Amino acid sequence: MLDAAGDRAILTVIGTGYLGTTHAVCMAELGFRVLGVDIDAEKIARLSAGQLWMYEPDLEQRLRRNVANGRLEFTTSYDAAAELGDVHFLCVGTPQQAGGHAADLSAVDGAIEALAPRLRRSCLVVGKSTVPVGTADRLARRVAALAPVGEDAELAWNPEFLREGFAVEDTLCPDRLVAGVRSERAEKTLREIYAPLIADGVPFLVTDYQTAELVKIAANSFLATKISFINAMSEVCEAANADVELLAAALALDGRIGAAYLGPGIGFGGSCLPKDIRAFLARAEELGVGRAVTFLREVDAINTRQRARLVAVARTVLGGSLRGRAVGVLGAAFKPNSDDVRDSPALAVAAAIHAQGGRVTVYDPIALDNARAAHPELGYRDTVDDAARGADALLLLTEWPQFGALDPEPLGEVVARRNVIDGRNALDPERWRAAGWRYSALGRTCTDAR
Ligand code: NAD
Repeated sequence: MLDAAGDRAILTVIGTGYLGTTHAVCMAELGFRVLGVDIDAEKIARLSAGQLWMYEPDLEQRLRRNVANGRLEFTTSYDAAAELGDVHFLCVGTPQQAGGHAADLSAVDGAIEALAPRLRRSCLVVGKSTVPVGTADRLARRVAALAPVGEDAELAWNPEFLREGFAVEDTLCPDRLVAGVRSERAEKTLREIYAPLIADGVPFLVTDYQTAELVKIAANSFLATKISFINAMSEVCEAANADVELLAAALALDGRIGAAYLGPGIGFGGSCLPKDIRAFLARAEELGVGRAVTFLREVDAINTRQRARLVAVARTVLGGSLRGRAVGVLGAAFKPNSDDVRDSPALAVAAAIHAQGGRVTVYDPIALDNARAAHPELGYRDTVDDAARGADALLLLTEWPQFGALDPEPLGEVVARRNVIDGRNALDPERWRAAGWRYSALGRTCTDAR
């Protein structure tokens, strides 16, 4: 698709959250002129000034560069977006509904209702948000009903698979591109936009809308299942006096299984896996095939149980009660290399310990501000030593690489008691034990707590 001047397509990215900000910057990196659109004026002001509002490795300097060279702009104006854009990427949030398991599609619907009536020129609207199967078909009908330009405004669905912490790499070198389309024109446009990636060998799969929507939700369901599988094994290992770390290492060597997403610990969190498997359950029920994905209920339950099990380990280590005990927590983000604390297992464990009377002090290299906003009841410190100072137990809850490299000897001088609870199986138990620490983790025979 060409813009009015016969040059490359002009892109808009609607919703400049974790996904949209990354996508806008990376599309500008590919040489496109890009307009980012959001209803959050503060976010737009920061991005316009070249300031990243979240933490994502490798992104800020690319943002600054593309804002400075004029390829990347931001606005709150749907009029400007509709007037300028040849291709509109839809990247708004689809969180879990308050009080339910289904996806809240109000932002997606709101964006389409705002954009479509303004579409007076030929364009392609490309959904990237994660949505329940059937959403694209419904939105295509809304675009057709609302767009003044009629059939020249089309819809495609191009789900996004990026991982926070690797968002730039995953956008510019994804494992695959999936294009749910209804016309050759839509396919051609997406092929043109992603041409450099396709030339680099990235597979480009063309599907219908429904399959594209399902690829995303199925991928996240599979990953969540893999994590809960190894966590279920950790529970069995404890009962059988086996070691889940050795078990996982042996499983990972099987080429049919692989090591990815096979790390035992306090489980998955963040803004995607938990809400995506719940939304899938809800949508499958609506489609009358709930029983086909009932196992996801168990996947979710195992995941939640890991958090409770870790709190129980802390209670045991501290003599049966957390009341009045000082607990140092390392990690607040839902995963390393991110400041995202949405549904963070680390914060859920920290908050549960606080609720049981523990005096919790949290350190995270990047996510302290977001954690403080989400859980103001917890204590926060700016260094590992300060979080650990005077602690009766030290908990590792997010596997930042620097935590794995901590020296247990000097840290032992700072705490009140040398109890370490490794919620991510990220520490070397022998090293910590040799420095006089009592080491505990889920699913390991070497757990001293039992
Ligand atoms: P987010 O909450 O960080 O961002 C959503 C953005 O949309 C916010 O900036 C919000 O202000 C904006 N918004 C809401 N309503 C709007 C409207 N009507 N018009 C314009 N902007 C509007 O969400 P996210 O993490 O970026 O996720 C976005 C989508 O991408 C979700 O469907 C998510 O499941 C999916 N996804 C996310 C990731 C990830 O790692 N975060 C990865 C793959 C897919």
